[in-house]
Amino acid sequence: MLGLMMLEPLRIAGLIEHAAKWHADTEIVTRLVEGGFHRYTYAAAHRRSKQLANALTELGINWGDRVGTLAWNTHRHFELYYGISGMGAVCHTINPRLFPEQLVYIINHAEDRLVFFDLTFLPLVERLAPLCPTVEAWVLMTNRAHMPEATTLPGEVRCYEDLLAAQNDEFVWPVFDENMASSLCYTSGTTDQPKGVLYSHRSTLLHSYAASLPDCFNCSARDVVLPVVPMFHVNAWGIPYAAPMNGCKLVLPGPGLDAASLYELYEQEGVTFTAGVPTIWFGLLQFMREKKLRFSTLKNMIVGGASCPPALLKAFDEELGVTIRHAWGMTETSPLGTVCTLKSQQLSLSPDEQFAIQSKQGRAIFGVDMKIVDDEGQELPHDGVAFGDLLVRGPFIVADYYRAGEPGELTKSGWFRTGDVATIDPNGFMQITDRSKDVIKSGGEWISSIELENLAVGHPAVAEAAVIGVPHSKWSERPLLIIVVRPGHEVTAEEILSFYEGKVASWWKPNAVEFVQQLPHTATGKLLKTQLRKDFAGYVLGG
Ligand code: ADP
Repeated sequence: MLGLMMLEPLRIAGLIEHAAKWHADTEIVTRLVEGGFHRYTYAAAHRRSKQLANALTELGINWGDRVGTLAWNTHRHFELYYGISGMGAVCHTINPRLFPEQLVYIINHAEDRLVFFDLTFLPLVERLAPLCPTVEAWVLMTNRAHMPEATTLPGEVRCYEDLLAAQNDEFVWPVFDENMASSLCYTSGTTDQPKGVLYSHRSTLLHSYAASLPDCFNCSARDVVLPVVPMFHVNAWGIPYAAPMNGCKLVLPGPGLDAASLYELYEQEGVTFTAGVPTIWFGLLQFMREKKLRFSTLKNMIVGGASCPPALLKAFDEELGVTIRHAWGMTETSPLGTVCTLKSQQLSLSPDEQFAIQSKQGRAIFGVDMKIVDDEGQELPHDGVAFGDLLVRGPFIVADYYRAGEPGELTKSGWFRTGDVATIDPNGFMQITDRSKDVIKSGGEWISSIELENLAVGHPAVAEAAVIGVPHSKWSERPLLIIVVRPGHEVTAEEILSFYEGKVASWWKPNAVEFVQQLPHTATGKLLKTQLRKDFAGYVLGG
């Protein structure tokens, strides 16, 4: 027997309609690429998203067409999220930090018909355009006053504000199957060619509900949210959808991602909740320590994308009064998979015991099931010790990559293989020990490079650390620690190595330490270990 409830398809346009109706006066504030600030309300953002949908229609965009964006977190990018997906096309966010060859590959693979871009990326777009034949028009996301006099782009560059000004704000968002594609994001290709993850309206809405839950973002109409995570990668962790769903005031930092600009915005706008990768927070912490600053309103922070070292959790909590929630996810999981918040029985533990739990990647959010398996695919126990390949499944997990591989092949077991290696403890807290390609195998046993890195950055002289496996005559592979020393500090290899004593099993201790000026990173700020392995190829360890 079927239920007797209304069958209203879940659609992205429903989010902005809701915010415009019930949170009409709530603000969206942007630090503009052109300089200065822009502020308006959800009601105004809705009207402009509809003008944009009219403009896209006039440009001949149809349901399912891919429309690219190369843009910072701004109100115009927000309008594109809603205008494009809302009218039935696919909002393809492109990560400008990727190599130009990867960008050309991605734009051609997606067959983008239009690309909207910020002024910052004009020189980049001039390089890409001749190599992207499917793009019929490039639209500069600015007003007439900031349009360049001349560009080397083939054909006319369109002006975003002119496009909108020519349209009225009457547009009825179409109703369609909630499984229709809404947005497209390519993985950053850390270990492979970029692969397209094609989200649907349904998956995006379900992810948005899950992200809003108390043990996740816990965001409400009393919150002021600033996503530092870019809207050009994994939809800024879903914040541009969760904010209007909950009526949060939204603060968009534009290109101002340095610590001083962020701090200014947190204070000026009364931000209560923010999200980003650990490197951003290390920079902010250092800045605030140097200037002896405190937050007036910021209380919660989601940290993910790379492992959050306990030293960072502790510093934000104890020095700045900000609670960090450590989260894990990936492009393929929309991206939230797990978030780390304590359960009631853990609140009586000592602060250090609590920090140790909080530095794990956390518990599965509703909508994500997970398990760890051994090399034979046998499920491993949740004892916090056994580690194996992490598999996930759920309604906002990728089923297939866009135009890649045999349909159904990727997840034919019913699970998606994340490429991460993890433990799960008896309370359900998952901890990533490594990417499977980065695991160090010493004498048949595995050593977690992430744990060794997290411990190293706890040393006051260490700014950043990476651990890779290098060949060893007896143990086949042993850990090599590569560090960047904090400016103004000095430290020896022996001092760093003795710092590990009592913190890990003695056989986990790295065999050697190398000092470098900087470490290589991927376009999404992760350590680029493939590069480090090349840089240190042929490294010979003693003993
Ligand atoms: P890519 O496109 O490079 O796959 P994603 O942005 O999708 O990048 O990143 C996903 C990967 O990032 C995960 O598979 C995991 O290895 C890593 N990651 C994400 N969050 C965390 C975390 N909290 N701790 C450790 N690793 C993380």
